[in-house]
Order: sequence, then structure tokens, then C-alpha cells
Amino acid sequence: TIDAVAELVEQQDAACLLKGRDRFSHKGNYGHALLLAGNKGKMGAAILAAKACLRSGVGLLTTCVPDDGLPIIQTAVSEAMTIVREAGLPDIHAYSAIAAGPGLGLSTKEKDLLFNLLQQNNKPMVLDADALTILSQHTEKLTSIPPGSLFTPHPKEFDRLFGTSEDTLERYRKAIQLSAQYHFIIILKGHRTLVAAHGRAWFNTTGNVGMAKGGSGDVLTGILTALLAQGYDPLHAAILGVYLHGLAGDIALKQQSVESLLPSDLIESLGNAFNRLK
Ligand code: AMP
Ligand code: MG
Repeated sequence: TIDAVAELVEQQDAACLLKGRDRFSHKGNYGHALLLAGNKGKMGAAILAAKACLRSGVGLLTTCVPDDGLPIIQTAVSEAMTIVREAGLPDIHAYSAIAAGPGLGLSTKEKDLLFNLLQQNNKPMVLDADALTILSQHTEKLTSIPPGSLFTPHPKEFDRLFGTSEDTLERYRKAIQLSAQYHFIIILKGHRTLVAAHGRAWFNTTGNVGMAKGGSGDVLTGILTALLAQGYDPLHAAILGVYLHGLAGDIALKQQSVESLLPSDLIESLGNAFNRLK
């Protein structure tokens, strides 16, 4: 049964995973993340992921967006640098962690960029949203995903990738089983997000139904990317990132309602979420 392989993640578990920051450290100690996200009409996803990444301790962030998205993200996110996708895939070795997917789009251009990236990159990366949808149309590429990468499907994306499940329980079981088969970590999102790795599983205990809104997942991608960029072990990044994301949602809910809560409120509450774990 699932109980035999699954654990609950509580506050003290997440707190143990959080690393401190040395007072003599500088931005170079906290990694440089690259975020491939955004497309026409979907720049909000890139902005949310970028802001969440910056609020999660990363040293530097570069976003990679289409040409006409450049002024949009540069205006919305002062702290992020930006390069354009028309220039092709940048030198990926310059980055400590890479994420792809939020609002990326599904065209051939994005597909080629993603496959090019998968071919060259061997560091753990975050794959979300449109990147997962592209992969679901090319499942032969699943074997070329860098080990330790984080997959963040919601149930529909999970089913698209791995076939439909009868219910939540079957989907949980499948995720755990697949995590033993592949070298990536599956973060199956929902009311009780499941982190599945190496045939084992961790259930998150934070988060609320106010987060059932477009954009919530993009915030999670930003958090996870920042943690990977800072050198967190991928499994620790997954467990801690999912916990912090839900906790930020729970903290933000105190000033909101489940109806009014926005993904951008989660980003604003990340500071308090980190502080709760100290
Ligand atoms: P996405 O569908 O990619 O925007 O991701 C949605 C995010 O919101 C995930 O991190 C989910 O875990 C979270 N979420 C969605 N619905 C709920 C819910 N009912 N309770 C708690 N978290 C939720
Ligand atoms: Mg999503």
C-alpha cells in the first residue's frame, strides 16, 4: 500500500532541510538560474515563476523569453536579466539550474529548443507545464531527462504523460512506481501534493484550495528552480519547495479568502514562509 512507502512532511522536516546563509557570502554562492518561460499571451506565467524564483534565495536569474516578451518581463521583474529565444539556446553551462515550461508555448520552435536543451544539459532541471505537454507527445525523450530533474505535473499533465488513471489513489501509485523506473523526481500536484522519488513518496501537508487557480504552479516552479540553483539536493529541493509553496499559500490566506487568494499573494508571503522554518 501507499502507507508503506509514503511519509508526511511536517514543519520540522522542512525546517531541517533549509540551509542558512553565511554572512560573508555573495550572490555567486547562490547560483544562477535560467528560466525558459513565457510566450505571447502567457507572459504572466514567466513573471510569476521569475518573481517566485527571486523570492526564494537565488543569486542571479536570467529569463529566456521570445523577443516581444522582453520589454514585458523586463518591466515587470526588475531583478531578472533577460535573453531572447530568437538568439537560440544560450551557453547552458553558465547556469547552475534550468527550468522550462511556464507559459512556454507548444510550437515547433519551443519543442526544438527544449529537445536541444535536454540533449546538452546533464544537471537536474525543473520541467513544468508546456514542457511536460511537449514531452507527453514525445515520450521517447523521457530517457534523456537529466537524473534528479523535477517533474511538476498537475493530474491532467500527469495523465497526458503517463496515461489516464482511474482516480487519485491510482495516480499516486503510478507516480511512485514511475519514480523507481525513471531517474527523475515526480511532484504530482494537488490537494496533497506527492513527491515521488526512487519508489518512495512524501505527502505535503501545507496548501489550501485558494491555490486552485491558474498561476499557482508557476510559483512552485520558481521556488524549485531557486532551490536547485542554490545547490539543494533535488529531493530536498522538491520536499522543501512544495512545503514552502503551500505554507506561503496558508500564510497569504490570512489576509485573503479562498476565493480572492492570488498566486502573486503566495510570492509576497514567501518571506514569512521561509522565516517560519527558522
Ligand atoms: P497548476 O495547476 O500547475 O497551476 O498547479 C496548481 C498548484 O496549486 C499546485 O502546486 C497544487 O498543489 C496547488 N493546488 C491546487 N489545488 C489545490 C488544493 N485544492 N489544495 C491545495 N493545493 C492546491
Ligand atoms: Mg501549471
